[in-house]
Amino acid sequence: MSRKFFVGGNWKCNGTIEEVKKIVTTLNEAEVPSEDDVEVVVSPPFVFLPVVKTLLRSDFSVAAQNCWARKGGAFTGEVSADMLINLGIPWVILGHSERRLLLNESNEFVGDKVSYALAQGLKVIACVGETLEQRESGSTMAVIAAQTKAIAERVSNWSNIVLAYEPVWAIGTGKVATPSQAQEVHFDLRKWLHDNAGAEAAISTRIIYGGSVNGANCRELATQPDVDGFLVGGASLKPEFIDIIKSAT
Ligand code: PGA
Repeated sequence: MSRKFFVGGNWKCNGTIEEVKKIVTTLNEAEVPSEDDVEVVVSPPFVFLPVVKTLLRSDFSVAAQNCWARKGGAFTGEVSADMLINLGIPWVILGHSERRLLLNESNEFVGDKVSYALAQGLKVIACVGETLEQRESGSTMAVIAAQTKAIAERVSNWSNIVLAYEPVWAIGTGKVATPSQAQEVHFDLRKWLHDNAGAEAAISTRIIYGGSVNGANCRELATQPDVDGFLVGGASLKPEFIDIIKSAT
């Protein structure tokens, strides 16, 4: 089993061009483990993708934060997977809870996006996760299974998917999941993949954790056997993102 540690930086809807260039400079100057040990992908807002792609060190990669569910055309305001490929953007984040909750993206819609993006040649960071209410009512795994099922029904090859488990109650709240809470869900999710997408998908798919990961809590989370990396929001805009990358080794 060799799942390369994965660290994603989700910059969300943040930054000016000056701030973005500053973050890139900080990343470019950082000493981090080799790309044999960690895969680093940062995800700026759409408008900053070209500049980040141009300026960013070559051992790091870039992701868009969304794309449209099918080929482009009369869809005002959307960006298609084809356009990302045309621009040389290799990754896209899909199904983030902010889009699921604030923009009403359904499991099926996210599944359609994942399927279309993969078919165009993008690699996908697919996000799943439960709300606090769902956790407290004991439906965490049912919610995550339904979200993952909508992807599994539309996708046969998992080799270009990274699954991000991001409990909604931990995102941007400073309330990180404990290492054992994260491990428990990651283990169950891997078992779900085994039963529903096959042994190969279960063994090789990286399941990363997101939700209030920072420089102080990343190392303990990273020791968990089924935690294969992180999707980092707030801390990815700060120099401590380097410490999180370093938790790979
Ligand atoms: P956070 O966000 O690290 O700020 O909690 C994580 C995410 O939304 O991907």
